[in-house]
Amino acid sequence: VAKAEGRSGFVTYSPAILSQIDAQLGEEAAIKRALNDDEYFLVWQPQFELATGRMIGAEALVRWRDRVSGTVRLPDSFIPTAERSDLILEIDKTVLSKACAQAAHWMSISADDFVCAVNASGKSLQEDAFFLHLVEVLRRTGLPPSRLQLEITEGVFIHSRNALDTLSKIRNLGVSLALDDFGSGYSSFGYLADLDLNRLKIDRSFLNDLESSGKKQDVIRGIIALANTLGLVVMAEGVETEAQLAFLIAERCHGAQGFFMSEPIDVKVLTNQLIARRGGLKAKARSRLNLS
Ligand code: C2E
Ligand code: MG
Ligand code: MG
Ligand code: MG
Repeated sequence: VAKAEGRSGFVTYSPAILSQIDAQLGEEAAIKRALNDDEYFLVWQPQFELATGRMIGAEALVRWRDRVSGTVRLPDSFIPTAERSDLILEIDKTVLSKACAQAAHWMSISADDFVCAVNASGKSLQEDAFFLHLVEVLRRTGLPPSRLQLEITEGVFIHSRNALDTLSKIRNLGVSLALDDFGSGYSSFGYLADLDLNRLKIDRSFLNDLESSGKKQDVIRGIIALANTLGLVVMAEGVETEAQLAFLIAERCHGAQGFFMSEPIDVKVLTNQLIARRGGLKAKARSRLNLS
């Protein structure tokens, strides 16, 4: 996007592009500092089985306690920047270490089928370093691989041979795989054939206005049927209303997560819920699942 300036041989950039580059570099420096200063931490969103209301797992979601701005930053404000640089690998490795250490602590207080899910960027999956780190973390924490699930999102990086190879090596370890945000990307069906998946997560956009959209209801029914045909566990995400939950129960969707059941919560809160053998389901969700 650089413009050649006259015949001088110099290349100049427009002020707008320079300020974009500045912003990217500034953000990258901030992410590096945050990694060094250990400003990233995890919150966990419980995942529930709809037939029983049991908490069958939790998803780790990264947060950044930014000491400069004094705020907690959400992933959408820094993951895209990290994915444009190599820093996403460092973030994903950090998250994986923290999540597995926590999951290992929960071993003795959770059911055998309680699985911790961790998001991984397709870009990280292209790197051998990610796989080596995963093997090392499982060894160090003693977490059984069956207790870990990686959530991957459709996207350009996943198509690469490297990423597909890494994913099959990860499956061979005994770690399970979920396809996140299913239906929101472009060539989603290709992955169903290429990857040895365990779970489909229906993108939350299909749940918006579900009550008034017969088409969205049909799409969800279709995804549930597809998952059943393929032998995959199907989960809905972004459940915000009682009507959405009721629909999913009626359609025999296997599981769900969302604000209606539980927001992402602090490690300590989830630990207490596991000790108390309660899912931390909000009261309205409990009654919809006939648990109250
Ligand atoms: P995701 O993996 O699809 O995670 C679900 C997102 O939906 C989370 O946002 C969660 O807080 C939000 N959510 C959950 N229930 C509801 C609901 O009922 N309504 C609405 N409106 N939202 C709900 P969050 O934590 O901001 O994460 C956004 C995305 O950032 C994630 O989407 C994931 O793609 C990415 N991400 C999060 N943590 C990591 C990480 O450790 N590594 C990587 N590479 N990406 C991450
Ligand atoms: Mg996810
Ligand atoms: Mg998702
Ligand atoms: Mg996502």
